[in-house]
Amino acid sequence: MNILDRYHAMEYGPAPEARNEADAWLAARDFSKALFIGGDWKAAAGGKTFETSEPSSGKLLAKVSDANAADIDAAVAAAAKALPKWSASSGYSRAKVLYAIGRAMQRHQRLFAVLESIDNGKPIRESRDIDVPLAIRHFVHHAGWAQALDRDFPGHKGVGVVGQIIPWNFPLLMLAWKIAPALAAGCTVVLKPAEFTPLTAILFAEICERAGVPKGVVNIVQGGPEAGAAIVNHPGIQKIAFTGSSEVGKIIRKATAGSGKKLSLELGGKSAFIVFEDADLDSAVEGLVDGIWFNQGQVCCAGSRLLVQEGIADALIAKVKTRMSRLRVGSPLDKNTDIGPLVDATQLDRVKGLVAEGARQGAVCWQPDATLPSSGYYHLPTLATGVSPANILAQEEVFGPVLATMTFRNTEEAIELANNTRYGLAASVWSENVNLALHVAPQLKAGVVWVNGTNMFDAACGFGGYRESGFGREGGREGMFEYLSAKLPLGPVIKPATVSAQPAEQSDGDAIDRTAKLFIGGKQVRPDGNYSLVVATAKGKLAGEVGLGSRKDIRDAVSAARACKAWPEATAYNRSQVLYYLAENLSGRAAEFAARLTELTGATPKAARDEVDQSIERLFLYAGLADKFEGRVHQPPARAVTLALHEPVGVVGIVAPDASPLLGLISLVAPALAMGNTVVAVPSERYPLLATDLYQVIEYSDVPAGAINIVTGRTAELAGVLAKHDDVDGLWVFSDADTCAKAEAESIGNLKRVWSGNGRGLDWASDEAAGDAFLRRAIEVKNVWVPYGD
Ligand code: NAD
Repeated sequence: MNILDRYHAMEYGPAPEARNEADAWLAARDFSKALFIGGDWKAAAGGKTFETSEPSSGKLLAKVSDANAADIDAAVAAAAKALPKWSASSGYSRAKVLYAIGRAMQRHQRLFAVLESIDNGKPIRESRDIDVPLAIRHFVHHAGWAQALDRDFPGHKGVGVVGQIIPWNFPLLMLAWKIAPALAAGCTVVLKPAEFTPLTAILFAEICERAGVPKGVVNIVQGGPEAGAAIVNHPGIQKIAFTGSSEVGKIIRKATAGSGKKLSLELGGKSAFIVFEDADLDSAVEGLVDGIWFNQGQVCCAGSRLLVQEGIADALIAKVKTRMSRLRVGSPLDKNTDIGPLVDATQLDRVKGLVAEGARQGAVCWQPDATLPSSGYYHLPTLATGVSPANILAQEEVFGPVLATMTFRNTEEAIELANNTRYGLAASVWSENVNLALHVAPQLKAGVVWVNGTNMFDAACGFGGYRESGFGREGGREGMFEYLSAKLPLGPVIKPATVSAQPAEQSDGDAIDRTAKLFIGGKQVRPDGNYSLVVATAKGKLAGEVGLGSRKDIRDAVSAARACKAWPEATAYNRSQVLYYLAENLSGRAAEFAARLTELTGATPKAARDEVDQSIERLFLYAGLADKFEGRVHQPPARAVTLALHEPVGVVGIVAPDASPLLGLISLVAPALAMGNTVVAVPSERYPLLATDLYQVIEYSDVPAGAINIVTGRTAELAGVLAKHDDVDGLWVFSDADTCAKAEAESIGNLKRVWSGNGRGLDWASDEAAGDAFLRRAIEVKNVWVPYGD
């Protein structure tokens, strides 16, 4: 046998990680007092416990206190008590605490890693080299944000007490993603880990004690859905940050509707791993190992859909199978293990069920010839080929080591297939042609795109999704905004619209001629129902009539907005010019608009003229900002640059207020347009003629057809239709509290981003009712990772 033969025949021996320290920690702890509330360790009020066991053997690890609503009350009270002092403390003192947490975690790094692998089943190589170091980096990075708050977020303050709920797949890392930015922002937290993986959070609470975190700033409660729901519904909490399944995310969106709680949702995914024919196939295969078999595929951003260009499909699949045959399935505490057990028997059953169903639907499922350990919840890495786009394995999040493969012919088809999912979390693009990769990346509906790489994360780079993958970002500057609130100038409480009666007196002259239509796809069109809404002057006379828009009209308007490619694809400079032109044309008719305002609202001529002038000024402002509110470039501690691109949200529905009917409408529509969104606006129900008078201004201003659509009618009804419409990506509602709450609750179909005034208007004339706070809501931040080097 020569040396080469020996090398190939070489078997790996076992390389177990020592677990004595973790076992000693487990043996020494009283898990019946595992609730960390107000700096004390408490038993659950109901006296209940739940079991956590070891996925590699099924052996019981601990019986852990199971919190109920009374415990959540206590934790929220502790967080509220600690809040005033913590939020008022200097950025420097908060930075020191965050840094101390990071350093203390570093000192117990190995214990964290071993405990994580024991409790979750993930290979020690991953917990040791990825989860724990990234978690530590998160705390150290956010120490800096605590101190930079005034400099980088002027006019913002922490939202208050935050409720945080996390899943079991990255227990410590998700905890870090939640707690670090909250503490940096001056918030206090009540965090609930997942019931499968409570252990590292308990160790983390011990670290908080040692690192000098003031009592009550961090409260960690253990429990299941009941405790989670109690957090979500608690009136003492100002923000909910949730990571978990889309199913529970939707429950939470509904439960928090109308509560005024800030909400961020980091949900599931079905991410595409796109390999073009000019890719380096060997690198792509290694990427796939990371993309789908990392953490047994129990990763929200797992590259679970392999899209491969037809010409190289056979070659790539052959390489993937060869590589899969070498993946080592075994004990998570063996340093050579690539694939450990799934977290629990229920998860294993779920994955098996989905694979069986995928096969029933026509997929060919292949697994390497390997023997699984005799105990534990193991599943072999699985490759599904012949998968149709509708197959369950192409559509459902499996959350297991299962890769579904499809082929594409050209770039357009790759993008179409990649976006053929209700999720939008992440994607990988593999090509040696950086031009092609950067052409494809912006067209993918995903919050994170990795070029020639996968699963790269950093505390400085935002992470989060679109569509049913949720909203909000974690990490970096955009992640900090999730824990901060800007002071917006509040206006009066908005009362529900009353159905206007026919004006008692007719106007003199030409009222009938003034009947306005709807504005859809660049054309004035009659409402589908052929009904009109009567508009009264301030004196109760007939000012005119407008179309009574219906569900069908909103649908047509949304289709027109979606079909309009010219606006989102226009350059920012181009959009800026059109907005300037709109302002110019409105200014040409300023006197006419001012007269209309006076006629309808009874405003004095001066006040009316001021509102028109401010509307023009606001259009000017956003015209100027259209090419200035740009993304950033991050330089994470990796050989990569991360481009944090500002992308339009998509189709944005806008329900405008009655107060300042022209300025309010323009203050909302202009920032949305400036960032490249297309808009379906429902103007003030009471004063819609201000919006219908704009049709001609829009028509003269080179606005592409479909970029702005206006549907007049009953605000509450049309807001509901927009909320339920799955092709609307964002919805801004400034209407009465009930309409706002319903819009939030009814948005769960596609989890569109809803910005509601919660029944309050803004002081639209204030300078603070304009600028970055609006532009931020008009964009999604997409982080595109571009590695470099040989
Ligand atoms: P899950 O939604 O079942 O549970 C998540 C958490 O929510 C747990 O702590 C659970 O106890 C709690 N919970 C359950 N029902 C609740 C309710 N009604 N009210 C409040 N809380 C409730 O998810 P999971 O199975 O633990 O985790 C897997 C999911 O998490 C996957 O879908 C995965 O994609 C997602 N995930 C997303 C990200 C991301 O950043 N986008 C990261 C990790 C995991």
